Amino acid sequence: MDCIFCKIAAGEIPSTKVYEDDKVIAFNDLDPQAPFHVLIIPKEHIASAAQIDESNSAVVAHIFEVAAKIASEQGLSDGFRIVSNCGESAGQTVMHLHFHMMAGRDFGWPAG
Ligand code: 5GP
Ligand code: ZN
Repeated sequence: MDCIFCKIAAGEIPSTKVYEDDKVIAFNDLDPQAPFHVLIIPKEHIASAAQIDESNSAVVAHIFEVAAKIASEQGLSDGFRIVSNCGESAGQTVMHLHFHMMAGRDFGWPAG
């Protein structure tokens, strides 16, 4: 499958990793939108949040455990934002489930 995040998860495309275990990987976004901006992805290919069901939802819980661990390790005590764009109109450009984790500036709501 020609999926850029599957290739990053397999180590076939280089990335700057901040966390990795058998289920997930977190790496710096190529085009950061905040001073701290990582993507947390399942190693398993899931196209988007719309494909989450009871067979694969455990990895989402694990991703949020990992996010809390990263926040603690990186000292993100002022807070952070987690976003998952689902579908083209929501801004999803890579069709492999990923969670943007951003910190280091103030964020607007609902955008920016
Ligand atoms: P989306 O637009 O789907 O919500 O987020 C995709 C994100 O993946 C974007 O923020 C984009 O900068 C990032 N991205 C796309 N290709 C690569 C890549 O090859 N390496 C890394 N590290 N990030 C990428
Ligand atoms: Zn994939």
